[in-house]
Amino acid sequence: MTAHLALAGGAPVRDTLLPYSRHLVDEEDIRAVTAVLRSDWLTTGPAIGAFEAAFAAAVGAAEAVAVSSGTAALHAAINALEIGSGDEVVVPAMTFAATATCVVLQGAMPVFADVGPDDLLLGPAQAEERISARTRAIVAVDYAGQPCDYEGLWRVAERHGLRLVADACHSLGASDNGRCVGTLAELNTFSLHAVKPLTAGEGGLVTTDDSTLAARMRRFRNHGIDSDHLARARTGTWEYEVVELGCNYRLSDAQCALAASQLAKLGAWVERRREIARRYDSAFGGLHSLQLLAERPAVRHARHLYVVRLALDQLRADRALVFRALRAEGIGVNVHFIPVHLHPYYRRRFGTRRGQCPVAEAAYETLLSLPLFAGMADSDVASVIAAVHKVLEALAA
Ligand SMILES: *Cc1c(COP(=O)(O)O)cnc(C)c1O
Repeated sequence: MTAHLALAGGAPVRDTLLPYSRHLVDEEDIRAVTAVLRSDWLTTGPAIGAFEAAFAAAVGAAEAVAVSSGTAALHAAINALEIGSGDEVVVPAMTFAATATCVVLQGAMPVFADVGPDDLLLGPAQAEERISARTRAIVAVDYAGQPCDYEGLWRVAERHGLRLVADACHSLGASDNGRCVGTLAELNTFSLHAVKPLTAGEGGLVTTDDSTLAARMRRFRNHGIDSDHLARARTGTWEYEVVELGCNYRLSDAQCALAASQLAKLGAWVERRREIARRYDSAFGGLHSLQLLAERPAVRHARHLYVVRLALDQLRADRALVFRALRAEGIGVNVHFIPVHLHPYYRRRFGTRRGQCPVAEAAYETLLSLPLFAGMADSDVASVIAAVHKVLEALAA
């Protein structure tokens, strides 16, 4: 190994660790939260409906249902589709575990599909390969921030009588052929976790044009009760009925106020992410030891993650060493994701194993996510570019 690498005791490119993602909260956001804290409603109050309406309008959906996390959003979606015991749901292997967890929580079985070799997205062909007589739905994941081929997925879903859900936790602000993410599937789920494009600390949403499904999800987030607290307070009644099984997946008013305040800035933030990604693209496009993910035509990418794949045959290092070398330089790289079917729980419970999704498995060994967030300074971007060049040149085969 070359001595000048920080890993070998050389001077690092940066003195402080640049995280792979970081939230942005400004004074305006803080004022919006403070106003709620001074109001009569900390939860089940008017900030929730206001945020839902603003979010639905922003993506062009008829309804948005706010819940306590992206995982709760996925769970509410699978529940609304009345998927349960004996049913199968096709999910991509290349995603965060929550995409599959929600299926298991409903007593159904996740069936892991492979992803396309160029974009690591679940395509229509990969989804169709996994369909059986028990399949009820497909949950596609807009990995790294670009929407899947929903037109193709819809054709597969229609041919087999399936429901279609978009896990859009990465792709808020993206579009395909001018159609916004949030309207591309029947139910579209979002996360408001601190590392996501828009945050409430924790939180989530489901968008849909189907008011029956939206009503079911609003009951599900509130113990399966057929009215909410605000409505009862207005009409002055104590009566409520639990009409189906539900959870407490409510998002609080302060969280909704924070996310609503952030929503106004989303467009500019996505633009900044895209600008940083363009700079990375031109800085890394010529490197033999890196491979960038393909962009689908006509897609406006939200660039939630900047994922690169290492060409390991061009390096005398594995991903773990490159990862450690970049961290030592002050670059907070990450890995998205360990294929879900390889996690011990899924192996034990569903007998999944290596070899089932070869593209996702092989890609996983090479993946790195570089820092990308709207608040990055130009000097941060330059430090990532310098460190990647430094490390890959030092470790070139
Ligand atoms: C973040 C994320 C989730 C879960 O969201 P939480 O808000 O953390 O529960 C689900 N799917 C994907 C693809 C995600 O990135």
